[in-house]
Amino acid sequence: MEQLRKPIVILGPMESESAYLTGQLNDPAVHQIGAYRFVSGMIDDYPVVVGRTYIGMVNSAAATAIAIERFDPCLIIIQGTSGAHDPDLHQGDIVLGERIVELGSYYTSHREIGEGSCYTEWTQPGAEIVQHGVIDRVGVLYSDPAVIDLAATVPYPHGKVIRGTIGAADIWNRELDMIDHLRKTLGTVCEEMEGFAVAQVCAQMGVRCADVRIISNNERFPDEIFDESYGRYCQEFCLDLIRKMITTDFT
Ligand code: SAH
Repeated sequence: MEQLRKPIVILGPMESESAYLTGQLNDPAVHQIGAYRFVSGMIDDYPVVVGRTYIGMVNSAAATAIAIERFDPCLIIIQGTSGAHDPDLHQGDIVLGERIVELGSYYTSHREIGEGSCYTEWTQPGAEIVQHGVIDRVGVLYSDPAVIDLAATVPYPHGKVIRGTIGAADIWNRELDMIDHLRKTLGTVCEEMEGFAVAQVCAQMGVRCADVRIISNNERFPDEIFDESYGRYCQEFCLDLIRKMITTDFT
């Protein structure tokens, strides 16, 4: 990686998920592209760009496409808060998104007026993805395995670090039956609103990506309501990961 010196782009949707990292950059320079704001700079003499995507799939897809065109990164990391599906995950725990699944596109079965809605009948076609000229429907994408392996070695003091499947859509699920359905059918351990969109654009543009999330809420536990301040710990973890990538000459 040292030879290439292509920047690492690290994205966070909210201010609470990007401001700390931005503040860690040496020699910062602001790049305002429409509504999207990126700050380029150096971490330990390696080029890093921090971007705030704003919330959701459309925003994060747009920010990813802009970042790839503008900065030609070697890797995009999307990170931030997420809601637990796994009952064993608690606020402060980190999920390394080995797999990222799309939760938002469904085909329903036909039902007559008055027959209501039944989510257990819905099928998920996945997103239309074009790779190497081939058009496909894909519901599962993957973080770069070498990045996940390295992340698993990063010390972390605020909770456990696990590998797992992250679900993403412009949806905030609070119905525990639905959460369990997703967990059982797709294997999700947590959910958020950007990961698959970032991974999809990266897949179509031939850029490596990784999704790293911190649990900021768990619907099963009334005292674990959404707390965006956990975004800080996730940024600290990702900064340690980037430092490890740089110092180990990760390629
Ligand atoms: N409720 C606040 C914050 C929105 S939270 C508001 O409306 O302003 C949405 C962000 O938090 C998204 O970027 C998403 O990635 C993340 N997130 C955290 N917990 C989530 C959950 N349980 N479901 C979906 N997204 C979640």
